[in-house]
Amino acid sequence: MNFELLTVTTYGIIFLLWSSILYLYLSNIRIASIRHSSVAILLTILAIDAFRTVLESAYFGLFFSSLYDYLPVSVYQFLSQPGYLMIPKFVNLAAAMVVLVWLLKVWIPREVDEQAEQKQKLDESSRLLELTRFSVNQVADSLFWVSPEGKVIEVNQTACEKLGYSRDELLNMYVCDIDPDFTADKWPDHWRELKANKTLHFTTKHMTKSGEIIPVDITANYLLHEGREYNCAIVRDMSYQTELDNIIWRHANYDELTGLPNRRLFNDRLNEAILTANRNKSSIGVIFIDLDHFKDINDTYGHDFGDQVLLKVANNLKAAIRDSDTLSRFAGDELAAILPDVSQPENIQNLLNRLLNSITQPVSVADKKVELTASFGVTFYPEDATSSEQLLINADQAMYKAKAEGRNQVYFFTSALRDAINHRVSLVRELREAINNHELELYYQPIIDFRDHQIFKLEALLRWFHPKRGYISPADFIPLAEDNNLIIELGDYVIDQALKDLSAFKTFKKNMVIGINSSPAHYKHQECVTNWLNKITDAGFSGSDFVFEITERIMMPDIHNEIDETLKELNQAGVKTAIDDFGTGYSSLSYIKRFNIDIVKIDKSFVMNVTNDAQDQAICEAIVVMAHKLDMLVVAEGIETTEQYELLKSIGCDYAQGYLFSKPVNVDGIVSLLKTTSSL
Ligand code: C2E
Ligand code: CA
Ligand code: CA
Repeated sequence: MNFELLTVTTYGIIFLLWSSILYLYLSNIRIASIRHSSVAILLTILAIDAFRTVLESAYFGLFFSSLYDYLPVSVYQFLSQPGYLMIPKFVNLAAAMVVLVWLLKVWIPREVDEQAEQKQKLDESSRLLELTRFSVNQVADSLFWVSPEGKVIEVNQTACEKLGYSRDELLNMYVCDIDPDFTADKWPDHWRELKANKTLHFTTKHMTKSGEIIPVDITANYLLHEGREYNCAIVRDMSYQTELDNIIWRHANYDELTGLPNRRLFNDRLNEAILTANRNKSSIGVIFIDLDHFKDINDTYGHDFGDQVLLKVANNLKAAIRDSDTLSRFAGDELAAILPDVSQPENIQNLLNRLLNSITQPVSVADKKVELTASFGVTFYPEDATSSEQLLINADQAMYKAKAEGRNQVYFFTSALRDAINHRVSLVRELREAINNHELELYYQPIIDFRDHQIFKLEALLRWFHPKRGYISPADFIPLAEDNNLIIELGDYVIDQALKDLSAFKTFKKNMVIGINSSPAHYKHQECVTNWLNKITDAGFSGSDFVFEITERIMMPDIHNEIDETLKELNQAGVKTAIDDFGTGYSSLSYIKRFNIDIVKIDKSFVMNVTNDAQDQAICEAIVVMAHKLDMLVVAEGIETTEQYELLKSIGCDYAQGYLFSKPVNVDGIVSLLKTTSSL
């Protein structure tokens, strides 16, 4: 056996094997496969080398020495072998060393690196998966994954919480079990539409496990994943939004204090009621309710107290009406009610009695008890009007009528009232025309000085001789002018006319004074009085040629400041002021004096009975005494008899006015009176 050949061949094979390990390592083959191949090759090398060593040892009897071939101790033997055998052995040894070092230093750490890398990748992806799952469960919106058949196949935590079902329960449900409007038969069409559009956005309702309905906003997304189709629906709970909408709606339609429908909602309800009444051929009652003198409560106790009273009154009224009726608060102390399905006044009389009674129940707020009354105006659909606007106007007018008739009562809108309203409307129009066309005349009534029987002053009184309607009393058209902003124009008209006439009167009596009747509106607009004063000076007269008669009505607290200013201005201009119709209002003389008033005119209602009514006589006497104490002069108006004249003179009145001396007459009448009588 040629052992040398065997050795050379063996080392040749071993060398090739080492080379293949090197190749595997150097070529970019995956590390794991290198490792396995290298280990296999190495084992093969060791096996072949061991086999060679055994054969070689057996032949040379050097078995043991061959064991030292790779050991440093056998370096000598190793070197003592023939030179050509030394080279493969050396290469073999070097290669084995390299492989060992490689395995220990390079492969093993690489393997460790690779494992760490793989573990890191695994950790990262599971972390991301966990984050996705966590996020999906944390989002505020519910998420549903639904199969093409409409079956819920996955949900997030929010979906479970919102609906009150567990995940397992939901995974056994279909969309139609959650959305009551979404019946099973609707699903196929929905799916088709979703597939065509890829995404759908709509609002619907979901029903929770406890049966509560939640409004939801849904964005449905069509998904195709790994060959399977899904609907991934993002469901937003709109309860909050709906609640906000409700709050806004309530704010727009309900009164904040009482929680009653406001005027806007009242109108809507009235229009609805009209439609229903048309269908059912029934009638509707509309009631306006205005609390009497409620302002006094606010003024006396403050607005907070007033609000509490209103709240209680509203609650009492609400308790008195039927559920089908609407009670509304329009503003302040104005309330209104719609009573659908009533026919005639008699039918709602009971209800009205209940309402009246509920108002008159004393109301207690903060240890204080207040008693109230109210004025009611009632109108009917379709008997009195066919539109909601007209019904409101009617009820309002009827309520005003109830107030005018003495308050604390119900007034039904009647055809007579309707006629009266129409009459008023055309009268206002005609009055405007009469002013523009100078059709109004100024009459004058003399006021006599008790001491010398001389005419001291002339009271200017408007006269309207209507071409068709005949004479219209100022007692009728003045309030109309006051209500319709015509009173300012009318005042200017009177001043202009009086200034013209005064020149004529002054030719007979130099110090003639004209009394001008004025209304609260004139004092509310200070520029109006300033304008009059300018007119007076422009015409060459002075303030002392005029007395302005005012009523107690102008002393209302809401225009105190304006009045103070205006009266001061009049005072400075030398214009005297007189309180008209004294005794019919509620003011005391000392209160009136506060406004620097010069003259008090005792109302003719006292004068009328002064001779046969001890009380009226006592009142007249008291007025005179008080007025004089406060430095005011007294006129008694409406004197028709000499007895009245004598009595009023005896109690100390300063001036007299009445038919006894003269009715109001036109300029010519006064001129002829002045011509013929130097004294009366
Ligand atoms: P007033 O200022 O109290 O005027 C006195 C009213 O009593 C006048 O009624 C006069 O005609 C009437 N009268 C005078 N003497 C007697 C009498 O002896 N017996 C009776 N029964 N009545 C007598 P008239 O002219 O109808 O005026 C009614 C009211 O209209 C006035 O009451 C006044 O408040 C208002 N008025 C009249 N003219 C004007 C005006 O130019 N401007 C304003 N703002 N109001 C006016
Ligand atoms: Ca007067
Ligand atoms: Ca008067």
